[in-house]
Amino acid sequence: MLVPVLARLKISIIPINYTIWYEYFLGTIPELNATLDRVKRGELKYTPELARDLYYRYFISANEETLERVGSEARELFTDMAGRFDAAGDELATFQSQLESVEETLGERKKAEPTLGEKIKAIMKTNEEMSAELEHSVEEMNRLKAELEEARRRAACDPLTGIANRKTFMERLESVLEAHTEAEDEDSVLMIDIDHFKQFNDDYGHLVGDKVIKFVAAALTESVKGKDLVARYGGEEFCVLLEDTDTNGAMTVAEQIRKKIETSKMTRSDNGEELRPVTVSIGIAGAVRWDTAESLLEKADRALYTSKSEGRNRVTVSTEH
Ligand code: GH3
Ligand code: MG
Ligand code: MG
Repeated sequence: MLVPVLARLKISIIPINYTIWYEYFLGTIPELNATLDRVKRGELKYTPELARDLYYRYFISANEETLERVGSEARELFTDMAGRFDAAGDELATFQSQLESVEETLGERKKAEPTLGEKIKAIMKTNEEMSAELEHSVEEMNRLKAELEEARRRAACDPLTGIANRKTFMERLESVLEAHTEAEDEDSVLMIDIDHFKQFNDDYGHLVGDKVIKFVAAALTESVKGKDLVARYGGEEFCVLLEDTDTNGAMTVAEQIRKKIETSKMTRSDNGEELRPVTVSIGIAGAVRWDTAESLLEKADRALYTSKSEGRNRVTVSTEH
């Protein structure tokens, strides 16, 4: 359906156009469809500039939700198209070698029938051109796919620290809790908050404050392994998902994190001055069967509050069920 429409509108069938118009037929972005409807009615000219503009607006710098919807569809499309192009390339290559052997066997007869040899040569030339075009399309598609993946990655992460953002964390936690319905499934979360962080900002300025946030994010990332997920939950708050880990295991990880941060030394890059030690307070909650992502995090947050009120730089396990 797509190819004839593009052909009728005299739009070349290159990956970027294919992607845009494929999305048009899916109809998930009303604004994009409104613009392309104008193209179809002849009110707007479809230029390479317009195509690039649409592509960047709706596929690369779109908001998270659009990217998520478009991203998964487009990646499937890219994989599918790349596969088909590869197969077509293989077929062309086979055809080419067949032609070559036909040309060889013609041998002497070519002298008697020169037009036959020329015709074969012409087909071979077209064939080569098509192969080159296909190869170029595959390359372009892979480039577009990598760009989309990069845009999606950016949307899932916190820009300051590069770790997962709150939305990514909540989605992962929700899906883990949904999948883990058996009594032996034990998952824990840590809620981590920097102690007296406001004082850091006041004493050293926001830039140093940001550096402390990055430092804590790095320390958390270094303290976990495998499928554990570390995220920036907000300002100077972080959370960690420890899948298949009971609260005892979570306690070990949390204590390691607390000690690691407490004993690290940070210096100001401008004057080498050593900063006051950074400490964090941590709340732990282990999931029970009826927990939702929100209820679990609320428990961890209340445990964190206990750590704060009991003097900070400590870990508390929630006893709520
Ligand atoms: P507590 O020990 O009770 O957690 O004290 P606190 O000072 O850390 O707590 P509070 O919530 O009062 O202050 C957090 C401060 O973090 C307030 C805000 O200005 C600062 N903050 C939040 N996000 C950022 C950020 O991205 N960069 C910087 N530099 N500061 C931030
Ligand atoms: Mg806070
Ligand atoms: Mg704080």
